[in-house]
Order: sequence, then C-alpha cells, then structure tokens
Amino acid sequence: MMIEGTSGAPGICIGKAYLVDTEGVDVVEKYYIGRDALADELIRFKAAVKETRDELLEIIRNTPEELHQSSYILETHVALLGDKMLYGRAIEIIEKQHVNAEWALKTAISVIKTMFQDITDDYLKERKGDIIHVANRIMTKLVGVESVNIAEIDKRVILVASDLSPAQTSQIQLERIKGFITDRGGKTSHTSIIARSLEIPAVLGLDNATDMIATDDIIIVDGTTGKVIIHPDEETLVYYEERRNQFESHKAVLVRGSRQPAATADGLRLQIMGNIELPEEVVSVIDNGGEGIGLYRTEFEYLNSPGFPNEDELFEKYKDVVEVMDPRPVTIRTLDINGDKSVPYATDRYELNPALGLRAIRYCLKKPDVFETQLRAILRASAFGNVRVLIPMISCCSEIDQARLILDKAAESLEKEGIPFNRDISVGIMIEVPSAVIMADRMAEKVDFFSIGTNDLIQYSLAIDRGNREVSHLFQPLHPAILRMIGHVADVAGEKGIDVNMCGEMAGDPLYIPIILGLGIKELSMNPQSIPLVKSVIRSLKKSDLEFFIKEALTQASPMDIEVLIQHNFGGILSERAYP
Ligand code: PEP
Ligand code: MG
Repeated sequence: MMIEGTSGAPGICIGKAYLVDTEGVDVVEKYYIGRDALADELIRFKAAVKETRDELLEIIRNTPEELHQSSYILETHVALLGDKMLYGRAIEIIEKQHVNAEWALKTAISVIKTMFQDITDDYLKERKGDIIHVANRIMTKLVGVESVNIAEIDKRVILVASDLSPAQTSQIQLERIKGFITDRGGKTSHTSIIARSLEIPAVLGLDNATDMIATDDIIIVDGTTGKVIIHPDEETLVYYEERRNQFESHKAVLVRGSRQPAATADGLRLQIMGNIELPEEVVSVIDNGGEGIGLYRTEFEYLNSPGFPNEDELFEKYKDVVEVMDPRPVTIRTLDINGDKSVPYATDRYELNPALGLRAIRYCLKKPDVFETQLRAILRASAFGNVRVLIPMISCCSEIDQARLILDKAAESLEKEGIPFNRDISVGIMIEVPSAVIMADRMAEKVDFFSIGTNDLIQYSLAIDRGNREVSHLFQPLHPAILRMIGHVADVAGEKGIDVNMCGEMAGDPLYIPIILGLGIKELSMNPQSIPLVKSVIRSLKKSDLEFFIKEALTQASPMDIEVLIQHNFGGILSERAYP
C-alpha cells in the first residue's frame, strides 16, 4: 500500500514504524479489567474527564478580555467532553468489553474518525477535529503524560506522528530514529527544515498515516518523492534498497565536488553558505563545502531549555560556532520565537493568529531584557571571529531604530565593563514581510545587509500558512509576485550598495537557482545538505544565458508558465544532477 504526502527531507529509509499516537500520547495498550475492578476503571475515566474539564475552564478563565471571542472554541470543547459519541461510547466500551479506559477511548476515537471519513463539509470536518482534540486531552490525563519524550525513544525506528513540533523534532536522536512521517505539516514548516538539517528522510502532510500504520509495521519512506510504502513486498524492498544505495552514492559524488568554489561556467563567483539551528551543525556546513553561516536560527537554544538561557550559556554556544568557522562569516539571527515556534515559558497569552502575532523582533522589543541578554552574548562572540547580526520579521523602519537602540545599549554596557567585542559589527534585517520589500530603499539606509527569508515572504505575501497542508499547493516560490519582490530587493540593495542574501528554503532547491541568480542574488544560504547539489547546478549555468532567461521569466503571469520556462531552458542540467 502506498500513501503520498509532501517531501520533507530527501533520502530513503526502510524500517519498523513507531507510532507516536494521538498528538503526543504514546502507543496505547489494551488490557482487560476484571468484574471487581470495573467500577474503579469507570471512576478513573470520569476523573480524567473532570480533570480535563477543570483544565479547560481554567484556561477560559485566564483568557484575556480581548481574546474572549476565541474562548468559545474552548467552551465547545468543554461541551464535547460530555458528548455521546465520545464520553457515552467510551463508558459503554469499558462496561461491555471490560477493557481499560485508554483502550476504550482510543476505540471511540477510531469510530469517530471512521464516521467522519468521507465527509467533505468543512464545518463538520472541523467538528471532528474538535472532538479528537478533546479526546486527546482526556488521553493525556489518563496516561499521565503531557507528551511523549522523543529523546527517550531507544529503538531503531521510523517515527509516525500526527504532527511533531519543531522542539520535538530537534530532540530526535540520530543514532536511533531513521526518519519520520507526519499527517500534518508542509515543506517549509520548521519541522521539515529540521528534518533536512538532521539529514533523515521525512514525509509530511500524509493526512492519515497514523490511522493506516501501526507500531512495528514495516514501512519504506521515500523522502525525495514524498511516498510512503506500507507492508512492502519482497520486490519493492529490493527496489528501494537499490534506490537507497544510488541515493547515497550520488550524494557522495556531489559532496566530493562541493569543495570547489561556487562559480558559473563563465566565471560569476557566488557565495554559498549554510543555515544552522544548533551549534553542532557547523561541521555539516564545512563538510558540505559551505563558505560561512548565512543563517544561525538561535531559537532552538530557547525551545529546548526549561527557562530563558543566560548570557554566558548563549555566549559559549555562539563562540564555539564563530571560532570553528573563523574567518568565514557567521550570521547570528536574533530570537525568532512564537509563530510556529512557541516557547512555553515565554508565551503568556493565547494568540488566535500566532504567525501574525508577537513573533520575532516584536517579541524582543516587548521583552528588551531578553533581547539585550542575547545581543550582549552575540557581541561578546564577535570578538572571536566574523559575526553579523540579523534581525527577523522587520515590518517597519522604527523597529530597526528600536532594535539598534537596544544593540547600542548592550554595546555600551560591554564597553563599560571592559569586555571586548567588534564595534563595527554588521547589522542586517530579514526581508520576509511585504512591507519591508516596499520600504527596502529606506530600510537599506539603516542596515548593512538584507537577507531574504522566502519562507515567510511567501507565507505573508500570498497569505498561505506555511505549515498548513490544505493550502500547500498555493505556497508557490515561483509566483510572479514573489519573483518581482526578490528582484526589487536585489535592485535596491545594488543601488544602495549593501549586500543581499537569500536564506529561505527556496535558495536550497536547484529548480529555483536559475531564477535566483538571474534576479541578481549572489549570496545564498541553505540547509547544509543542499549545498553540494546547488553548487553543482551553479557550475553548469552561464551568467550570459541567465540574463535573457530572467527577462522572459518576469513577463510570465503564472508559476506554472515560469516552471515550464525553467524546464525548457535548464531541464537537462537539473535532471542530470537531481537525486535518483
Ligand atoms: C524564512 O522565513 O525564509 C527564514 C529563513 O526564516 P524561518 O524559516 O526561520 O522563519
Ligand atoms: Mg522567517
């Protein structure tokens, strides 16, 4: 049986599935309850429901006035706790089948999922989601855990989950987890970005993998094409083992070639750097031929910590990265939490639209202490190598001014304490909100460089939630509006004499390379694993061919037309180098 989703990270893995079921509750066991213990089991189930109700009511009570509109969802959830389909059925199953409460609840959930399976009405589909959400809350109470600890899984398995948060994904132990697949998520969700960093195959957005796969089932994950095969026959296994070997040898050839500098066949020199989420990934950037760190996403040090890390902890991490990379540049991006990377201890309000909420620089300006601590750590690290500071999600000029004030304050305090740092540190901003594209000329006067974050630029310009599978078909890097915006930013940076770099996932996909270079971007930063392939594509292109091609591409009206044009001009080069 084969199911298809979105390719999260390339590569093939074959192995036993390990189900991380029901939003974080591990595999549910079934056991029988003797007649004498039946009453106690019912009490245990009812107590879990009561605990869930109390918890929901507490959340509603604490919902601030201005967000009361959203608490109606939670009120619906409270009402659903007594629902016949859920509560009634679970009780009935315990009583009639003499099974444990977890198993009864799981069975009730399966029945609900089956009942709603073929329903296309959006409203009813959402109701199904609500019931399951409520059921999952009860389940966590019954099992007594809040969520499964991914770091503690000690088998060589492939994870199968409804969803994995970026924090959970970053806890994956590489020596144990071969790959993972999820029902939700899209190509540029932070979960799939981390999968690519970990270099493990991943397929996301499979919709119902958790319903179709059981723990210990043999599955094949083809992260390159986004396919998952369940219970493969002998012939299929042999075929995929062969493909896995081809993938590994193709990768080895590309990696060997990646030591050479990136330049087009007619001599246009480019700079190719790596994106990292954790300091340990520096090695991977160097091994894959990266010429620096174009984006160090620093939020994972906060996501994986019980509270805000202190200045010394941050400084030690940054210093390690800077020293290893020296004299190559290290671009440290300041904290970009919230959105899809919420940190429990830093989030004190429920946000209805977190992607449009108190994310990134907005959070940092609201919490200047947290920001200043990080800036001091970055400045201190700048004494040990070539450091640049990058500020995310800038949407107006005053945010740059305010951020600079706090940076100056951090610098002054270091100065007073006699602690060394680079006084001329380069300061750049992420261009990932449409207003920043439009204001690029004025913003360029305030900073030393731009870094185009296409993941968010596409999300915010095309109004497409980057993690939502339902609209992932509309997440189009080749949308003419996106190309025009990138072209505009590159032109402005050229006129104002500042550097411009691209660090979104688009930069690491060979298909987009002719467009990106054609638009005048000469510095790219990507997942380290993408560097060898991208460099190899660059070496086959000619600057002179790109000039004519980009003019034609910019006259097109649709992403499809632009893709056809790319394939027509460069299809041969791209397919020769693509992973098998
Ligand atoms: C982006 O938005 O393109 C980007 C590089 O930042 P992140 O993916 O961390 O939001
Ligand atoms: Mg971003």
